[in-house]
Amino acid sequence: MNKIQMVDLKSQYQKIKTEVDSSIQSVIDSTSFIKGGIVEEFANNLASFLSVKHVIPCGNGTDALQIAIMSLGLKPSDEIICPSFTFIASAEVIGLLGFRPVFVDVDYDSFNVTAKNIEKAISLNTKAIIPVHLFGQAAPMEEILAIAKKYDLYVIEDTAQAIGADYIFSNGEKKKVGTIGTIGCTSFFPSKNLGCFGDGGAIMTNDDALAEKMKMIANHGMKVRYHHEILGVNSRLDSIQAAILNVKLKHLEEYQKARYDAAQIYTNGLKDIESIETPVETPYSTHVYHQYTLKIKDGTRDELKAYLQDWNIPAMIYYPIPLHLQKAFLQIARQGGELETSERLSETVLSLPMHTELDLEQQNYIIEKIRGFYK
Ligand SMILES: *Cc1c(COP(=O)(O)O)cnc(C)c1O
Repeated sequence: MNKIQMVDLKSQYQKIKTEVDSSIQSVIDSTSFIKGGIVEEFANNLASFLSVKHVIPCGNGTDALQIAIMSLGLKPSDEIICPSFTFIASAEVIGLLGFRPVFVDVDYDSFNVTAKNIEKAISLNTKAIIPVHLFGQAAPMEEILAIAKKYDLYVIEDTAQAIGADYIFSNGEKKKVGTIGTIGCTSFFPSKNLGCFGDGGAIMTNDDALAEKMKMIANHGMKVRYHHEILGVNSRLDSIQAAILNVKLKHLEEYQKARYDAAQIYTNGLKDIESIETPVETPYSTHVYHQYTLKIKDGTRDELKAYLQDWNIPAMIYYPIPLHLQKAFLQIARQGGELETSERLSETVLSLPMHTELDLEQQNYIIEKIRGFYK
């Protein structure tokens, strides 16, 4: 049996090596390392895959969120609501730009923010919401859009973990996550569902004016070279990363299927264990399983993790400390209500190895060991 890894990027690369290598080589041959034609080509391909008007590539997912927030023209006392149970990047940039993050609780089953929790946290200063499509499944966007409309708020989707997932509206209409709110932000960090070989990110929107502004912000605030209309940043996806992503985008649906199938194998093998709750698939979203995350209900989580480690099975805790308890936020954030579920989840979650190259032998071994632990 091959060594089990949380993410196996090497085996995935081996399968598309010829295609990826020649794509990288053509960038090297062109020496057009920054703003090569391949960056625009990839952006266009991603835009048509997602059915969105504009895709603006940038340096990473955190920059994508920063540029999105910068484009909204907010003022210092303004507040942005985001979940407490997420990766720090979702909230970090709010504080970094001098705005106030307001943390709200998530739903225990889906790990995602609820519209109800968001509505309770709204104040006169609230200007935007950042729903995070955590672990590969969409937040309840239809209800979030309704709240946003009622209170006139921007919606910035953090889709770093869910690119390619569909949100299913109550009338049956489907839209890709990241294209539903005002702006969508994603990351191409190597271990994400669509990952490059370094850092990368992108911003999505159907709003022409915002797209233009975000393009300027990502490029030192200029449209015409050396004419800086606003303060911006330097955030680019480089040509080599775009060349890799352009190849991998063609495989994204097949990768999604591999992850989904692996998730079903885990769930079938583990769902009858009383101490464990397997992931809940909501009716309003497809699940692209960026993570396969269990809830360990009887307090044995850390013990199970150590036991799996002894059997050379890696498992990770995403996330051990909710953001409202992080030191970095203590002075600047506001708690938008009870955050009990986020705290409870941080003590019960355990993510198993999940990637496109898991094989049945590895999964059966993992399932067998977990079953053995609870016998
Ligand atoms: C990975 C991630 C980001 C940040 O992406 P980077 O490319 O690492 O900056 C933001 N939000 C979430 C939810 C993520 O998982």
